[in-house]
Amino acid sequence: MLQQCANCGDVILFGGVKHGSLRYCNARCYESVRLLHATYYVPENEVEDALTAFHQGDCPCCGGPGPVDYHLSYRIMSLLAVSQFKMLHKIACQSCAQKAKLRNFLITLFIGWWGPGFIFTPFYLWNNLHSMIYPIPGDAPSDRLREYIRLNLARQRAADAAAKAATEGDMPFASG
Ligand SMILES: [Zn+2]
Ligand SMILES: [Zn+2]
Repeated sequence: MLQQCANCGDVILFGGVKHGSLRYCNARCYESVRLLHATYYVPENEVEDALTAFHQGDCPCCGGPGPVDYHLSYRIMSLLAVSQFKMLHKIACQSCAQKAKLRNFLITLFIGWWGPGFIFTPFYLWNNLHSMIYPIPGDAPSDRLREYIRLNLARQRAADAAAKAATEGDMPFASG
């Protein structure tokens, strides 16, 4: 299966930095996440509470009932000599996610061949099919969703701290 950077969301074709069940493009991507979590530590029970609420909540796309999870689909768009590879995530209910996978499957099927990326096109098509046939089970939130929630909570804390520092007239934290 294709891998996605847990920090920036880019496709990792080769290598990357592996940490637990997560993978990052490079040491820089990993380091920025590590630093964020170290500086703005979110207690595990807070992550779990937010995760459960989000997973059981309504779909942000269609407003229908959950479970909501972090679904992936895969797309190659090629034109003339250029191929663009995308790994797209959809935070949504199962039915919205299946539609997104089908859409990206069809886009790749029709315009995934007309560039140097065509070697990867069957692979991308298969990834979509595979994730349509074996979608994320709805009984428990996935690790990807957990990391997404954890990262968002930490980023929220960083933003709050920066806003607070700015209103107090201090130098705001660098957000890079
Ligand atoms: Zn990255
Ligand atoms: Zn939906």
